[in-house]
Amino acid sequence: MSRLVMKFGGTSVADLERIRRVARLVAAEVATGKQVAVVVSAMSGKTNELVAWTDGAGRAAAGLPESDDEYDAVVASGEQVTAGLLAMTLRNMGHKARSFLGWQVPILTDEAHGRARIEEIPPENLEECFANGEIAVIAGFQGVTPNRRITTLGRGGSDTSAVAIAAAVKGDCDIYTDVDGVYTTDPRIESKARRLAKISYEEMLEMASLGAKVLQTRSVEMAMAHRVPVRVLSSFVEPGEAPGQGTIVCDEEEIMEKRIVSGVAYSRDEAKITLLGLPDHPGVSSQIFGRLAEANVNVDMIVQSRARSADTANMEFTVGKRDATRAVEIVQAAQKEIGFEAVAVNEDVAKVSVIGVGMRSHAGVAQSMFQALAEKNINIQVISTSEIKISVLIDAAYTELAVRALHAVYGLDQL
Ligand code: ADP
Ligand code: ASP
Ligand code: MG
Repeated sequence: MSRLVMKFGGTSVADLERIRRVARLVAAEVATGKQVAVVVSAMSGKTNELVAWTDGAGRAAAGLPESDDEYDAVVASGEQVTAGLLAMTLRNMGHKARSFLGWQVPILTDEAHGRARIEEIPPENLEECFANGEIAVIAGFQGVTPNRRITTLGRGGSDTSAVAIAAAVKGDCDIYTDVDGVYTTDPRIESKARRLAKISYEEMLEMASLGAKVLQTRSVEMAMAHRVPVRVLSSFVEPGEAPGQGTIVCDEEEIMEKRIVSGVAYSRDEAKITLLGLPDHPGVSSQIFGRLAEANVNVDMIVQSRARSADTANMEFTVGKRDATRAVEIVQAAQKEIGFEAVAVNEDVAKVSVIGVGMRSHAGVAQSMFQALAEKNINIQVISTSEIKISVLIDAAYTELAVRALHAVYGLDQL
């Protein structure tokens, strides 16, 4: 018997009417003879509200870690409500269903509260549920540590719960959301964005990690590692209605038509830190980035240039916005030792990226990007590249203009 994990995001379970529609979509899959597990997010807006409450209660006050076990106990609660409500609704429709919290599955994680990693999901409890003909309705986003403390998997983490459960029970994974697939760019900022029928795991991984929040990055990593077939679909349809084809995330070999660029992503979550007047000798970068690494600050883009006066250099790098203040404090604390003249931070920046496996075999992709931005008078502050992506850091005010210009220049409007 085939198995399916269906995941419904926050807008898909935002109220009781939508939960009833979700129940109808689940029932339609059960009617085809599949064993079904459902993963739900909290109602949209709920997790933000819970996070704000933890702020109000003094989270991250002097000396406390930003996310700890009590933070997770609070913010995981939104998913408990929707799992119970959906199981109840399915029962009212005459189905056998039960809810599972993370610890009841169990979804075993490490102890990194607020961004825990799933380590194992013993499948026995879900197997028993399937054997009894029950639909398992699982609270996404949460897990449990070996010490039986609740953890959460980072924002957007229900996607990862769903893929991990699909890997554990050897099923397919359908991610239902408020758009009918993965688009060439965020359809909210470019109305000409096109749905991609298929996207490779690798491209999806870059799209997600460069800002396209339609799938959480870790969910794509996990799908890729365990070869879980993933589809992204809209939940805003009734069973029986033309469901739309969604987007299939699959191996590159399964995609016939290779594009040079598949998508454009953006992120406003970066801050740029500038160090002026650094001594220009070996070991300086290691001193700076060693300290940041020790403090668990992730550095993304880096550029260094020789200053006009001899023997000094300037350096710019980016970190996540939430780490910016801490990163500045860390380098400032070592100013004497490292020996730079000044440090500045700029939070009004955005990273815009183009992604495509076809870049591997095509020259001139970066040049088209730089030219398109120049024609719009958009200044590039930092550039970084990999085999299948090019990212630029620009003034945040031009994010949308840049995304639209790049979408057009690579012909994505016409797919
Ligand atoms: P859910 O609550 O279902 O998890 P999310 O809000 O996390 O949904 O993700 C869906 C949103 O992702 C869409 O509404 C869309 O605005 C955004 N998005 C960003 N980039 C893309 C893209 N390339 N394709 C589709 N959606 C995207
Ligand atoms: N509810 C959580 C969040 O808002 C997890 C999720 O929706 O995937 O981040
Ligand atoms: Mg999401």
